[in-house]
Amino acid sequence: MKAYFETEHLLIRPLVPEDAEAAFLWCGDPLVNTYMIYPLYHRAEDVRAWLMSRDVNDPDNYDEGIVLKRTGELIGSGGMRYQPERHAWEIGYNIRRDQWGHGYTVEYLTALIDYVRRFRSVEAIDGIFAAPNHKSQRVMEKLGMVYVRDTSFSRLDGSETFAAKYYRRNDPQPEGQCLICDRIRDIVQDRNPYFVKELETGYVVLGDDQCFEGYTLLLCKEHAAELHELSPAFRAAFLADMARTAEAVQNAFQPEKLNYELLGTGKSRHMHWHIFPRRHGDTPRPGPVWQTLMDGHAPCSPSEEKRDALKRALRMELDRL
Ligand SMILES: [Zn+2]
Repeated sequence: MKAYFETEHLLIRPLVPEDAEAAFLWCGDPLVNTYMIYPLYHRAEDVRAWLMSRDVNDPDNYDEGIVLKRTGELIGSGGMRYQPERHAWEIGYNIRRDQWGHGYTVEYLTALIDYVRRFRSVEAIDGIFAAPNHKSQRVMEKLGMVYVRDTSFSRLDGSETFAAKYYRRNDPQPEGQCLICDRIRDIVQDRNPYFVKELETGYVVLGDDQCFEGYTLLLCKEHAAELHELSPAFRAAFLADMARTAEAVQNAFQPEKLNYELLGTGKSRHMHWHIFPRRHGDTPRPGPVWQTLMDGHAPCSPSEEKRDALKRALRMELDRL
């Protein structure tokens, strides 16, 4: 998509075929190209052909020119492309070698993310860079992204394959966009009567419906859909928090068995654990808890006193573990 905006030092505008000579200064620079997916350009005419071939109206791709306000020179390009299978926007950029080290990439991408958010939902920012490319690693860290896993990528012409690192930032969603982000906002503002305790990676809340007495949820602090989208350290801590919550539910409510489900579908793909204390005969037929919902049962909202007693019992067990 065509984007026009300014930052403190930069003017952002769409690239045009007339930018070929200026863009050749980085597209044709072997040092800039070291870890790039596209091959090194040897002629400005080839850069022009590439510029002419681009679809500048693709709503899933923001790939703009970066102009230094002070000099009026085009010094780089980059942007973000939507990856529907990951519900994430992947960033990419090139800056002319003599303009490295001024923080222009971070300045641009920070503003671009805010810009795109005016038109599109931005749930996550992804970045993949060649493992030895420490400059890119610093860019991602400055953008608040964290390591998720090792990966690899090959140049478009297949001439080279790089060991790579996959970084990500999961972003909280604006009000009304994600049920779980809304609930967390309520907790932080002390407006959620079901809130029990904050753990390192999530919030423990009682379920609104207490047909299964002690039904508890653990809301992930990150707006992420899947466990594999979390950094290894956060994921390990989240799973440990989950086990701790489950043990507290067991100790507080003494069920015969716990049922677990990690959900996050529909409008809010924000993962949250459901923990159901199960007891003999608590469903119409032996089996999963969901049959009670399928059968259209009436919700069991506890009284305030009952709810507070359940919360107290659970918090006491969480504090002990
Ligand atoms: Zn969310």
